[in-house]
Amino acid sequence: MIFKLEGFKTTLWSALCSSLAFFLAFYSFNYWQNKVYLIEQVLLGLFLVSVVFSAQFSRSRFSLLTILWLIYYLVESQWLPGKAYFESENEWVYLSGIFSLTLLVFIKDRGLLSLHGLLRVFSLVVVILVAKAWLFISVWLFAYLQPLTLPYLDILLIKIEVPLYILGIAILYKSLSTPNLLVSSILTSFVVWSLLYKQQIELPLSVTMTLLLLQYILVVVIDSYYLAYRDELTGLASRRSLNQLALSLSRKYTVAMLDIDHFKKFNDTYGHDIGDQVLKLVAAKLAQVKNGGRVFRYGGEEFTVVFPRKESADTLGELERLRQAIADYKITIRHPVRKTKKERDSKQSTTYKTVSVTISIGVATRQAKESFEQTLKRADQALYRAKKAGRNKVSE
Ligand code: GH3
Ligand code: MG
Ligand code: MG
Repeated sequence: MIFKLEGFKTTLWSALCSSLAFFLAFYSFNYWQNKVYLIEQVLLGLFLVSVVFSAQFSRSRFSLLTILWLIYYLVESQWLPGKAYFESENEWVYLSGIFSLTLLVFIKDRGLLSLHGLLRVFSLVVVILVAKAWLFISVWLFAYLQPLTLPYLDILLIKIEVPLYILGIAILYKSLSTPNLLVSSILTSFVVWSLLYKQQIELPLSVTMTLLLLQYILVVVIDSYYLAYRDELTGLASRRSLNQLALSLSRKYTVAMLDIDHFKKFNDTYGHDIGDQVLKLVAAKLAQVKNGGRVFRYGGEEFTVVFPRKESADTLGELERLRQAIADYKITIRHPVRKTKKERDSKQSTTYKTVSVTISIGVATRQAKESFEQTLKRADQALYRAKKAGRNKVSE
């Protein structure tokens, strides 16, 4: 299996933004040092907001994470008893944190106040006990390995650093392989938690907490926005964004409706999964539209391109170029073929194959007193004419 770096961008963004936030907070700290009490006053409210808001938007992992941070914060700032105990058991506290973060990366978001929620709380208790068990096991392991006189062998290495690196790599792997902001920000929390343990963060705990909670809330907002306004398969803007854009268009614009030709047949020949791959690749080509065009997945294998402030004459050249680019595009698809067991064992279970599709395009420019829906409808009628004229055509 090839390691896919689909989550590279989200990981990088979240790492950069968090580093920047901590960096700015640290370097400007002198200026607002005497205002930290204000942060402490709103922080409890922020904890509440983060728990409720995340749960409301079905990101219950953040709710659980926020509750864990809350417990830690309340104990550390002595609102709750146990600070001395935390200090004497700091290895256990730290390991519990990294074990819990790892668990949160690998479970799904489910209702907080449900059987699933209860199960998740139970799992967190279990990993915290596992962390304690590891501390015992590591002592035993150390005693067992010590006679080997390995270089660098140290009890701390086995107790703390071995799980730190293994779990850190597991979370990093997950964050890099799936584009998911939630996972990426759990990775950041993992780093922050480790730095807190090593006492490397020279900011008050309340400030660190504030930065983390703001990150969680922001991630929920961004993630929900993407869910609503982005199409999951193609990554293009969705129909909802198109409706949103329609509200802000000026009086002059041109709309093009694009539809893949004979796609039903394509699916019948190659299967729905390959159909999906092709849709994704066609969408990626369409996304390169120039001349100020904005591309949306209208639905199924239909796309819409809106050219604000353009007459159709200004857009025909670009649309023709797109049509040609798709027609010429030799799409390489992964083609899993049924094989005999012997062939499967020779590890060549995927072969590559090239296919191509064409698209038909209908164009309409807004006329006086016309609504967006009416222009869109005329573009659709033009599309119908392009289909009738033999497909793989642009029609006005
Ligand atoms: P034409 O537009 O040239 O008239 O023919 P068509 O076969 O493309 O026509 P139609 O619009 O009736 O069929 C659209 C087909 O597109 C139906 C469905 O099989 C396929 N399709 C729609 N959405 C998806 C999708 O998300 N994934 C896949 N794989 N196929 C889809
Ligand atoms: Mg169609
Ligand atoms: Mg079609």
